[in-house]
Amino acid sequence: MISSKKGSIASIHGSLISIKGIERQVKLHNIVKVERHNILGEVLQIYPDHVIAQCFENTEKLRIHEDVVDLGSPLSMELAPGLISSIFDGIQRPLKIIYEQKGGFLERGIEVEPLSRTKKWHFQPSKKIGDKVGEGDIIGIVQETPLIEHKIMVPFTYSGIITQIVQEGEYTILEDIYTIKRENDEISFPMLQKWPVTRARPFKRKKIPYEPLVTGIRVIDLLFPIARGGCVAVPGGFGTGKTVIQQSLAKWSNADIIILVGCGERGNEMADVLKDFLKIIDPKTNRPLIERVVLIANTSNMPVSAREISIFSGVTIAEYYRDMGYNVAVLADSTSRWAEALREISGLMEEMPAEEGYPAYLSSKLSSFYERSGVVQLVGSEEKYGSITLVGSVSPPSGDFSEPVTATTKRFVQAFWALDAKLAYSKHYPAINWLDSYSKYTDYVSDWWLEKNFNWKEIDVDWLECRTRIDEILAKEANLENISQLIGEENLPEEQQLSLFLANLIKKGFLIQNAFDEIDRFTEPKKLLGMIKIILLFYKQASELLQSGVLLEDIKKLDVINKILRIGITIPNEDFDKIVEIKDTLIKEMEDLKFSYKGL
Ligand code: ADP
Repeated sequence: MISSKKGSIASIHGSLISIKGIERQVKLHNIVKVERHNILGEVLQIYPDHVIAQCFENTEKLRIHEDVVDLGSPLSMELAPGLISSIFDGIQRPLKIIYEQKGGFLERGIEVEPLSRTKKWHFQPSKKIGDKVGEGDIIGIVQETPLIEHKIMVPFTYSGIITQIVQEGEYTILEDIYTIKRENDEISFPMLQKWPVTRARPFKRKKIPYEPLVTGIRVIDLLFPIARGGCVAVPGGFGTGKTVIQQSLAKWSNADIIILVGCGERGNEMADVLKDFLKIIDPKTNRPLIERVVLIANTSNMPVSAREISIFSGVTIAEYYRDMGYNVAVLADSTSRWAEALREISGLMEEMPAEEGYPAYLSSKLSSFYERSGVVQLVGSEEKYGSITLVGSVSPPSGDFSEPVTATTKRFVQAFWALDAKLAYSKHYPAINWLDSYSKYTDYVSDWWLEKNFNWKEIDVDWLECRTRIDEILAKEANLENISQLIGEENLPEEQQLSLFLANLIKKGFLIQNAFDEIDRFTEPKKLLGMIKIILLFYKQASELLQSGVLLEDIKKLDVINKILRIGITIPNEDFDKIVEIKDTLIKEMEDLKFSYKGL
């Protein structure tokens, strides 16, 4: 009954169109198509005599009475080999291919398949005729890029006995490659699957996160860790370093696959970011980073609804790779631009606005994004796990964290890296404010750090103890700052002056980290522990010296301090011996200083 699925435009209101004729059978969130212009839209409201849909593209050329077809399903992502290294927009149009074929970024109504129909992939079966398979089970593999093995899985809700499976060879994503027999029928499957973006893909159960996503950024890995499968917000005003953090995570974190969702940058800025991104070499494999990355780009000149959906498109692709057993990180930059799109659509629909014009459902939309993070046991007959870590940057206007998007996001994330304009202004990067940031993953990941720990006989502390002590010193400094401003630092007791000196050492020698320095940009866990233990050992020994009558000004003159301050930029991760040497020098210089007092 094709005719019952066809209606026509009754009115046009910005990007919203009212359609008559499909209201009886259409479902909420179904995709409709204005046939003459090939423009897609999503059904947002259904009334007894008409339907409201939001177009994914500019509606200037549309006219009343033009035909609209209900495509019968919500927006779905195409899932098959070819996703990695692609650049899509929010509705999965392949921007790189459009750019190459059409020479422009996006023409209206352009119709290009998200994934190539003609490219052949080398498929290697891992099952044979007669095998019993169920949903999520792996049928075979395709080497999608030199870095990623793509597992072809039985789609959800299907199971049975394999009655046919192709031999190892080259196949397109549309060719049937296996057939399974169920009770009453047989059904054949190609590599391609589809999944609606607003529905989370199923899993068996969520597990408590237990491993950190190692970022190589010291302030994060020590003080505000994020677990694989966790979710974190990175709020900060313009120029505070959100993009640099996202890029460091993409390059250095131990996620297997990165989905980068860029929301609402200007077209040319986004093109620059993409061009830069294509050039990055994966430091761990020496291959182009893009071989384990999917990019979703929505520039501010693209329609708002495509932007609104893009974070869900990104997380759907992430779930598909998670289901293969990968640890995936979704980096969304920025969720504020996404929320603005939501506000714009809601305004057009004349919904009752809540705080600052955002719709009342801002919170449920944000939670439906962040709740798709997690470490999960996967569907399938084998015991397999995969994870999705969500990192959403937020750009609050004038850096005010009490505004609705930041405040609402805070309710759903378990870690918060608060970027501070004052720190950025004074070139303290990464500008993560240690007093406003937090992480609730500390206890979850502390066992993992125990395994990485090593003990020096002079200082026996583990990661958890290190972070507690550093936290205390930084908190103490915040209290002392006020007093020292009133009475002058030199009038504080020496032990308090030492705390201030140490806080400064922590900031300059540990927290500050140059993302563009060859050595400093990524700190391995062992180097991190070495650096922080040396600082704590310095504190311990300096406190003892003070008590035995040594003057702080003499301690501050020790040569080793300069070496400690420069470990980040001078000692590569693999040269741990040099860190041990600095520790030994520290002990020696402290002993010599003590000895020099004895002679007095
Ligand atoms: P935002 O995305 O928040 O607007 P960016 O990430 O573009 O800010 O950072 C702005 C600038 O700050 C960068 O171009 C860089 O010069 C500097 N910067 C940020 N983080 C670091 C860092 N970790 N190391 C060195 N410089 C940094």
